Amino acid sequence: MSSWLWYAFGARPCPHCGADVPVGQLLEGEHECDPGTIEDRQADEARAAVPCLVAEIAEYLDSGRGQTRLAFARWCREHGR
Ligand SMILES: [Zn+2]
Repeated sequence: MSSWLWYAFGARPCPHCGADVPVGQLLEGEHECDPGTIEDRQADEARAAVPCLVAEIAEYLDSGRGQTRLAFARWCREHGR
């Protein structure tokens, strides 16, 4: 199939950098991720995760289990932090 036909399917987000890329480029491996775009995406994901982490820690401290550093370290390990 000619590659131009794939362009009829429109664009999809690149799974690596999130940029909108014509489907033809994705399927044929012609898309090269822009390092800056990848960094922007990772920064966005990190920012999105922070409120969640803060809420989990606040919930933990409110629960009364955060009495000792050992308990806190154990909690962090259990929660993959
Ligand atoms: Zn990409």
